[in-house]
Amino acid sequence: MKNQELIDYLESCGVCRVCQLRYLKARGTEYRDMQKTFQRLDVKVPADGIKDEPADEQPTKKPRLDICSTCLGLFSEDFQQQLIDGILHSDFAKYDSAGIVLAFSLPMALQLRQLSMWFALQRKFGAAVDNNFAPDVPIKEAVKLILHPIVCTQLNKEYDANGLMINIELRHSTEQADVAKLVELNKAAFPAKAAHQKRIEISRGLLEKQYQPARLKAELFEKFLPIPPAPVTDPLELQSIDLLGPLVCVAGRYRKLSRELSHTPWVLDGKRIMEDSIEEIIIRNVGGHFSETPEKITFMSSGREDVDVRCLGKGRPFVLEIQNARCGSLTQAQALAMEQAVDATGTVSIHNLQVVPREELTHIKTGEEQKRKYYRALCVLEQPATLDILQKLQISESFDIQQKTPIRVLHRRPLHTRPRTIFEVKARVQRENPRLLVIDVVSQAGTYIKELVHGEFGRTAPSIASIIGQPIDILALDVVGIDLDWPADVNNAAAVE
Ligand SMILES: [Zn+2]
Repeated sequence: MKNQELIDYLESCGVCRVCQLRYLKARGTEYRDMQKTFQRLDVKVPADGIKDEPADEQPTKKPRLDICSTCLGLFSEDFQQQLIDGILHSDFAKYDSAGIVLAFSLPMALQLRQLSMWFALQRKFGAAVDNNFAPDVPIKEAVKLILHPIVCTQLNKEYDANGLMINIELRHSTEQADVAKLVELNKAAFPAKAAHQKRIEISRGLLEKQYQPARLKAELFEKFLPIPPAPVTDPLELQSIDLLGPLVCVAGRYRKLSRELSHTPWVLDGKRIMEDSIEEIIIRNVGGHFSETPEKITFMSSGREDVDVRCLGKGRPFVLEIQNARCGSLTQAQALAMEQAVDATGTVSIHNLQVVPREELTHIKTGEEQKRKYYRALCVLEQPATLDILQKLQISESFDIQQKTPIRVLHRRPLHTRPRTIFEVKARVQRENPRLLVIDVVSQAGTYIKELVHGEFGRTAPSIASIIGQPIDILALDVVGIDLDWPADVNNAAAVE
């Protein structure tokens, strides 16, 4: 089979130049200068044939020869223009995303036409056309090679698989009739399978898997659908264009300055216990820039503290996971404004705010158990502290404790006994009141510090109380450090000055 013979035959079947190149297995940029590619492949085509012939005033029901019988006009300049116009008339301008990716949902009529042409080429050229491997560059791949670059250039965007997804649904006037015939064909071609199924699900996946010359005879196919594909009266049409913004992750660190603030909205029996929460404050001040639906933003942090516990020091790493983001970037000036807005609450302070790659979410989501946490606890003894007590609470060698789930969280956590490692304990007396101890604890993440101090009737053992051999209670707790060096330090304020 010579290239020229192939092209002459395709031309006679009403196949467009782009699709002709698909049947010559053209790759990548070869679709850009088609005339040159044809020359290189030793194929003569009339120069003016590259352009689509303008649609004359034809009677509407007559098949139009200028519509390609295999791609139904998908690769025509007309359609490209329609597509660009369609995207520009969607909410496209609302999205500030540097990268885009196109996702086409194509009618099944298109797949049937590729198969029909495959059969036609086998009839014409015999064994030169393989039974198992399609003779053309598949439509889906061709869309990537041809339409993607054109749309990206026209819209001045880059291709990015993680960028703004433009979902394009196409329809064709023959789809319903063709699928009806396909259902009949399917019963005849795969009767055993059809008998087992109450309703025959005809899907694109089924077409791809089952509908190949190796599994289906051309003679049977032809009883239902023509070989080669018949000319059509109308081209493909745009059914809908839907946009889905990328997933954007915004990370930072927060300090919790209040002992009356919950981590997430705290609602009991339908009533709010705390008016606000860290999650709400951060999303309220950061979310609007990225999303029109802040209620759909997910807030995650590396652990959490109790309502009455502050988190100081460098603060706790957090990340906002923003689906369908309108915007994927954040300048340092914008970040600073958000940091200042959160700081103004007086209850939470954030810094290091930045957009991070989604791969970095693993820092928050995994390895939590291995992390070390640094705490400072203000504790009270029944008697003034003695030297003996202070000496017992200078522990620089790590030790393990067994900790039963505290009674105060049993309503939401299952009862377990967990081993936890305490790495370090250091205590000093408050000068003003010798009954008050400031105890610094370095522990494995997930340790309940309040119970570590008083022991909770032996449910945590050993405990600070059991180590010193007398009761001790905790008045206040601060988290002073979290062993997670992420996200990177960025000084938004310094960059803006
Ligand atoms: Zn075509």
